[in-house]
Amino acid sequence: VKKLRLKGIKDETVLSAINKVPRHVFFDKALIYHAYEDKAFPIGEGQTNSQPFTVAFQTEKLQIKPGDKVLEIGTGSGYQACVLLEMGATVYTIEYNRNLFERTRDFLPQIGYKPFFLFGDGSKGYPSKAPYDKIIVTAGAPVVPVALQEQLKDGGTLIIPVGTRDKQKMLRITKHADTLTTEEFDHFAFVPLLGEQGWKG
Ligand code: SAM
Repeated sequence: VKKLRLKGIKDETVLSAINKVPRHVFFDKALIYHAYEDKAFPIGEGQTNSQPFTVAFQTEKLQIKPGDKVLEIGTGSGYQACVLLEMGATVYTIEYNRNLFERTRDFLPQIGYKPFFLFGDGSKGYPSKAPYDKIIVTAGAPVVPVALQEQLKDGGTLIIPVGTRDKQKMLRITKHADTLTTEEFDHFAFVPLLGEQGWKG
């Protein structure tokens, strides 16, 4: 948390949530001493979890309030979902990789975190639970999926990295009475968002 403050994260509710979620429990024993470094790490299936700064950055930009209904695209290890839950959000999290979905669905409740686990292509959102106050995409997209914009509530916010397979610009899209406003932030490097509105293969 000290390192995140130095890197510019200011929102105390985000920092406090990150302080509460034990990161080392998501690590293989061999990597456990790296758990509180500001680095991404492998979670199997060729995927990584995001580095804490990225988790903090995206979460801060969403301005989560207790009771917000949040859709997360890319469950991965479940760490980001735990941070959102600590902030009092109701979290729907969707994963496209069957093994990661099953592993995280089984593991998170064991450490006391209970988001709603969904399996499928999150590039199409999850219409049956829409609309959402906030949507967070934790994989790099080639475009902003239209379905995600449609599934935002009026006044809702979407945070999504968009760009090439290797480098993406973080975008925050806010919806007001069907008008979308886009703000651009720094570049990040996420693993690719797959699926219908994502990268192929
Ligand atoms: N939020 C995760 C965490 O806290 O560990 C990190 C996510 S990792 C950077 C990206 C994840 O997005 C991977 O687990 C990947 O399988 C998943 N993913 C890729 N395309 C997806 C899609 N279309 N729908 C849902 N998940 C997807």
